[in-house]
Amino acid sequence: MTAYVCPECGESATDDAHLDGSPLCPVVGAAGYEPARAVLVDSPEGQLVQDQLLDAFGVDAALDVIRNGTSEQDALDGVLGSAGSYGLDLDGIAPAVGASFREHLTSYRGRTAH
Ligand SMILES: [Zn+2]
Repeated sequence: MTAYVCPECGESATDDAHLDGSPLCPVVGAAGYEPARAVLVDSPEGQLVQDQLLDAFGVDAALDVIRNGTSEQDALDGVLGSAGSYGLDLDGIAPAVGASFREHLTSYRGRTAH
């Protein structure tokens, strides 16, 4: 099966819809809003979209720890749990999300320490 992602939200997609059948996220085109065009996961753009999505998961987890006092493990489990709904392979993305999480957590803590 050829794998696509929606370039706007990073969800796994077919060539013209999200996996749940809903239209791809709208983008502004020449005639106003139109559905985004799915990109191949294995293309440079697809990789960029996935990298950004995984980074966003890391940010969410780090903010959860900083703002809510959630334990690091629970915060990571939380975002990885929601990643399942994007059709992502949890074992495959966990290292990247974890790396992003630690990077952002360190930077947020550095910022709030003084
Ligand atoms: Zn989308």
